Amino acid sequence: MPYCKECGNKSRFGSSRVPTVAPYSNGPISGDLGSFDDGGSLTGLTRMGADRATTKAAFSHPVAYFDICAHCGSTDIEW
Ligand SMILES: [Zn+2]
Repeated sequence: MPYCKECGNKSRFGSSRVPTVAPYSNGPISGDLGSFDDGGSLTGLTRMGADRATTKAAFSHPVAYFDICAHCGSTDIEW
């Protein structure tokens, strides 16, 4: 399952492939935020600028897709 080595977050991750469109500086670090359950399965995706194809890719290959911790912004993610 995804795990942030910096803060221990296991449930919310973003992707550096999707630039954020949030108009505020302290907003989400990614245009796509994935939610994961205790088993490491992707349970939901908050789309903020990601198109349908990108979202589909996220569900197909979450390991390759989610590479940023949504809590602290670290890219030191372990799967
Ligand atoms: Zn973190």
